[in-house]
Amino acid sequence: MPAETKLFPCLKDNYGVLIHDSATGATAAIDAPEAAPVEAALKETGWKLTDILVTHHHGDHTGGIAELKGRHKCRVVAPHAEAGKIPLVDETVREGDKVSVGKLTANVIETPGHTAGHITFWFHGDKLAFAGDTLFSVGCGRVIEGTPEMMWASLLKLRDLPGDTRVYCGHEYTLANIRFAQTIEPNNRALAARAKQAAEQIASGKPTIPTTIDEEKAANVFLRADVPAVAAAVGLAGKSAAQVFAEVRARKNKF
Ligand code: ZN
Ligand code: FE
Repeated sequence: MPAETKLFPCLKDNYGVLIHDSATGATAAIDAPEAAPVEAALKETGWKLTDILVTHHHGDHTGGIAELKGRHKCRVVAPHAEAGKIPLVDETVREGDKVSVGKLTANVIETPGHTAGHITFWFHGDKLAFAGDTLFSVGCGRVIEGTPEMMWASLLKLRDLPGDTRVYCGHEYTLANIRFAQTIEPNNRALAARAKQAAEQIASGKPTIPTTIDEEKAANVFLRADVPAVAAAVGLAGKSAAQVFAEVRARKNKF
């Protein structure tokens, strides 16, 4: 049976999301920004929390773990490299490991850069990816613990997923990301279409995610650092994609 998902806002601009296997009743929260909205989503769906899958150690992704685990006795799965910074971890995972949520299976993809041990959960059978703060809709996370080269390599791994993979990310940053992307690619028609669509979604109180890998390839300037026109737009024609990515990321930090 296909996975069901439930997306909901948390904190200031975070998203929480549940993934549910109706065959077994298993339900995982992808990250736990805070407990109350997760509880509200569980109540609304009638699902029972069995697992928390953690993408990285930041507090806005882990702050609800202790309270949720205390109440639901759920399993906490976290990146191996960050287990010491995440509360109440039961299992740690690395690149290539598989995580079961009932009969659903996620592949673990290491996507460091935002943090040194950040991981993405890819439910390939359901064409779903939970990218935390690595890939955003029309953006990417700040490179805090890694290098631009590391982050670019992580983004390439995600870009290589099947184009129809639906991507859930950790924050609603889409409109600001689009405003920035348009400073570099003012004539990108896919980006202009996303700008219109996202403005309508936000105006009607809807989230702009999930997005898809194909949509991001077309509109997300951070995934387009190897497009010659993007390199030229930031004055780095002929330079490596990693160098172009680093420059685009640096400009976003100052935007
Ligand atoms: Zn983060
Ligand atoms: Fe975050």
